[in-house]
Amino acid sequence: MTTQNPLSVIIVGAGFGGLAAAIECVNRGMKVTIIEKYADSNSQGDILDIFPNGGRVIKAWNEGKVGEEIHASGCNKIYDMEIHKYDGKFISTVPWAINETERDLTYAGHRGKLHSIILDYAKTLVPDLRIGVGVIAYLENDKKAGVTLSTGETLWADCVIAADGPRSIAREQVLGLFNEDETNTDSKWAVFRTFFKTDEASRAILKERGLFKEDRDTLRFWMCDNLTLLAFVWNDGLDVAWALVHPDDRESKEGWGNSNIADPDHLRKWMSYFSGTDAQTLLDITPERKSIDFKLVYRPPISKWTSTGGRTILIGDAAHANLPTAGQGASQAVEDAITVAYCLQNCEGDVRLALEATQRIRFHRSNAVHKSGQANRDAFFKTPWEDIEADPDKFTRKRWPKLKIWDPLEFAEKQFPKVAKDIKDNVPGSPEELAVPVPDGGYWYVPGS
Ligand SMILES: Cc1cc2nc3c(=O)[nH]c(=O)nc-3n(C[C@H](O)[C@H](O)[C@H](O)COP(=O)(O)OP(=O)(O)OC[C@H]3O[C@@H](n4cnc5c(N)ncnc54)[C@H](O)[C@@H]3O)c2cc1C
Repeated sequence: MTTQNPLSVIIVGAGFGGLAAAIECVNRGMKVTIIEKYADSNSQGDILDIFPNGGRVIKAWNEGKVGEEIHASGCNKIYDMEIHKYDGKFISTVPWAINETERDLTYAGHRGKLHSIILDYAKTLVPDLRIGVGVIAYLENDKKAGVTLSTGETLWADCVIAADGPRSIAREQVLGLFNEDETNTDSKWAVFRTFFKTDEASRAILKERGLFKEDRDTLRFWMCDNLTLLAFVWNDGLDVAWALVHPDDRESKEGWGNSNIADPDHLRKWMSYFSGTDAQTLLDITPERKSIDFKLVYRPPISKWTSTGGRTILIGDAAHANLPTAGQGASQAVEDAITVAYCLQNCEGDVRLALEATQRIRFHRSNAVHKSGQANRDAFFKTPWEDIEADPDKFTRKRWPKLKIWDPLEFAEKQFPKVAKDIKDNVPGSPEELAVPVPDGGYWYVPGS
């Protein structure tokens, strides 16, 4: 690709997927426009993790400075996850990272803070970043793809990357997903989520209950049949986030905003399963109106991420909303982002080939991660306490395998030539058959195996 005639790319959504795609496309010489609907999405959310498969992409930005800034502000002192029974009994620990390299490539912290750091970096690279303007329609003809904005303006480019999240309008407009099976969003689970800043008194309580330690951040997990509770305490005890997954007994709605503030009685009802434990302590020090309750965001896997005309692709949660129990929402969005940027860089101007190749390279891996989220959630449906207490380490090894260190760029580099050739040769097959298989044994690292 020459710099005189760079590919032009419109990216819809400035979440982690959209921003990563923008950064990776600009760094490969493309001309990028980003459109983001909300002006203040950084004020929402609580804890977010990016694991090494996404983290290695971030680490490469601005000579490592973006990653350093995230580590400096986030949870950089987690060593393990402490697993507890609902009655408070300690079961076992699961290492947060298997070695120092993995630790360095794992980013965690307040979602808004992480997002602001990456957004600030993207602003230095992308002059045409429009915040507070929504896309209302996706357009495409034989030569271009485009969008209509809420202002009425229409923009055209060589291709459009729709990174517009789980409530994507691209799913309907670009992919034509109207079918009940494909659009079914009822995960049947909901989650109370909380983030707050502590005061001195609550910090003292956290310290007394071993939830705040001076030399490390805390990550503690409690299990009960049908319920999982995860708590983070970091930033020298100043920041606390916790999430309690529970059956959706109130037909909750999706959304990170204030419209989903949890009803205190409802919260107490589900928290009572952990009464008498440190988990209850968390609730006691949580300020009023700081917890939201919303439906676990879920979308079934879909077989196609690209438009019929081939110039628009969905990535991130728009294409595959993993359950949070996979812990991979942002990491998978970043994997999509670097893959699409690499394919566009190497497509010799054939953007349709690039987007199709992206889908084939990412499809099976993304689906495998998607399934892991469901498997993790279902595993908590009935907890075999006798087996766990008889051999806690065996249980934790089995239940929390880690994604092997995975390099999405290396994978794309390796797979692209063959995939591009298949596309040019019109090799027949279903999307599933044409997509690149996940390598055997290349997926999970099981501690102790
Ligand atoms: C406000 C918010 C808070 C979150 N908090 C957490 C959290 O605390 N912990 C966690 O694990 N995950 C959180 N998530 C989800 C997590 O960020 C994603 O699962 C993951 O990062 C995948 O990112 P994505 O870019 O694919 O989608 P998203 O992060 O959902 O980003 C999609 C973006 O597209 C924008 N958008 C949507 N429609 C349009 C449109 N028509 N025109 C223009 N822009 C549009 C949205 O405003 C959003 O910024 C949050 C998401 C959001 C939006």
